[in-house]
Amino acid sequence: MDLNRGGRQCPLCHGHFVADYHIDQNRSYLHCSTCSLVFVPSDQQLDPADEKAVYDLHQNAADDSCYRKFLSRLTAPMGERVKPRSHGLDFGCGPGPTLSVMMEQQGHQMALYDIYYADYPDVLEQPYDFITSTEVVEHLANPREELDGLWALIRPGGYLGLMTKLVVDQHSFASWHYKNDPTHISFFSVATFNYLAELWEANIEFIGADVIILRK
Ligand SMILES: [Zn+2]
Repeated sequence: MDLNRGGRQCPLCHGHFVADYHIDQNRSYLHCSTCSLVFVPSDQQLDPADEKAVYDLHQNAADDSCYRKFLSRLTAPMGERVKPRSHGLDFGCGPGPTLSVMMEQQGHQMALYDIYYADYPDVLEQPYDFITSTEVVEHLANPREELDGLWALIRPGGYLGLMTKLVVDQHSFASWHYKNDPTHISFFSVATFNYLAELWEANIEFIGADVIILRK
């Protein structure tokens, strides 16, 4: 029997206690009762070429002051936590790396990785004092595999800083603009990140509406 028929197995906890959560004109969304992840079943996700075509429309530049202000919601609290001259990785940096520039301006050394724009697998085989990943986890088809992989690269005492919009409840999800981006397929909530923190035995902090910092 195919336990993942129609892509209904949870891609974070791999559980099968999954129920219909929402349906709109484009896709359906499922909710995992074990880890609370809301996700689009794999058979309704974009293929990589179509996904990249959507990403190419996002043009963020390092000198865009609005974008820098947006990213400072993560770079400011990370800067308060990591030691001076730390070594970090920005995972999913996109076509116009900006967060890395901001952390370098704080005196840290940064590596970059992006599956479409900076596909240098060697950087995923080195240890880091911290890893940042902004507006990335909502795009992951296999969030468990990807996040476990990042967590393994972080040195003891180091940090994983994430930025993603959080699911509040089923009612507000129905009118949530965030779900309408066709590249958004994994939607986390406070409960989902608490699940991960427990799994990893990590300390977790929620900062503002959409910043999550886990300490190893
Ligand atoms: Zn789950």
